[in-house]
Amino acid sequence: MKIAMLNCLKANEICAAAACLKAFNNKAKHFEIYKDQDLELVALGRCNGCEAGIDDGFREKLDRIISEGAEVCHVGICTVKKETGEECPVITEALEYLEARGVKPVRGTH
Ligand code: SF4
Repeated sequence: MKIAMLNCLKANEICAAAACLKAFNNKAKHFEIYKDQDLELVALGRCNGCEAGIDDGFREKLDRIISEGAEVCHVGICTVKKETGEECPVITEALEYLEARGVKPVRGTH
């Protein structure tokens, strides 16, 4: 199973993706569903920030996820706004873009 991960650019200030990668490598948390499958991480990216939204660069990243053959794209909890508990609309749109092109969205990494 080819997996991609997307996270919030704001999390980049403090995040080394260590917890996401640990969960992936151990097939734990949101990756437990693949416990009987071989996994390959084909892309690990961030959005381009709230002001950029789905700009050309972010779309290029999404297209790269697709061209690398990702079957699933996981998004981190960092893409959910703490104040409202709602998913960031930029991420929602990005996942819709991916899903329309055959990449299944999964909310959660660790
Ligand atoms: S667009 Fe959404 S996911 Fe990206 S930095 Fe802003 S809040 Fe985070």
